[in-house]
Amino acid sequence: MKLCRYNDDFVGLVIDGCLHDVTPALAALPVWRHPLPKHDPLIANLARLRAALEEEAGRSPPIPLDRVTLLSPVANPGKLIAAPVNYRKHLEEVLADKQIHHGNLINEIHRAGLFLKATSSLVGPGEGVRLVHTDRRNDHEVELAVVIGRQGRNIKAADALGYVAGYCIGLDMTIRGPEERSYRKSPDSYSVLGPWLVTPDEIPDPSKLQLSIRVNGEVRQDANTEDFVVDVPGLIEMASSFYTLHPGDVIYTGTPQGVGPVKPGDVMVASIERIGSMTVAVSAA
Ligand code: MN
Repeated sequence: MKLCRYNDDFVGLVIDGCLHDVTPALAALPVWRHPLPKHDPLIANLARLRAALEEEAGRSPPIPLDRVTLLSPVANPGKLIAAPVNYRKHLEEVLADKQIHHGNLINEIHRAGLFLKATSSLVGPGEGVRLVHTDRRNDHEVELAVVIGRQGRNIKAADALGYVAGYCIGLDMTIRGPEERSYRKSPDSYSVLGPWLVTPDEIPDPSKLQLSIRVNGEVRQDANTEDFVVDVPGLIEMASSFYTLHPGDVIYTGTPQGVGPVKPGDVMVASIERIGSMTVAVSAA
């Protein structure tokens, strides 16, 4: 199942390249009062609602995808977790440039751990990326994004894929510079999630996915998740040994070699095998 959010908070399923509105099926969601839960209610109830969503999609006419504005498929994530250097070839690329990193970084992700991005930085592909500080280098990082489906702590890698609600394409936009990662990677619109969430029955092995990004038609990054240093189950184990994971939490799994700058006016097209493609416009904030 491919679940998207679009226009003014409508929810749809994508079937054979067309969108079908399933928003009426969300009436079955619990009504929350203050204080709100730490999780995303739709993602938390996705398995329970799935049959109703698919039934609703069968009743609703197809809408061409190019007629809608795609939002982030997760509306209210509690956390955006992200992995630093997590592809072997990207690690080599970084190691080769002593001006970027120094010394022994072979266990970089094990030493560095994970980091968090502000949830206020999250947008969908249709909203675009709005660059701040355009006098500095602003980079694209295309990443496989994992959406957590149920609450867990100290999850073992062997059990980890059972906690996944689905997969998306993520862009971890980044200002290069000396500041903390979370500061440089959290301006509004610097976390893109889309074009839809694909449930794990359509992606049995997240460690065998080709991913790429083109900027104005030029291929910048083109790699396969089989090059991960720490794979998806390992990242869930790492993250949940520090944080309780909640439904709707997102893990950006790290970017492969080929990161590069974008500027206002550029158009990025990011693709991941079995998920699809998303077009994201770059402008100045
Ligand atoms: Mn990244």
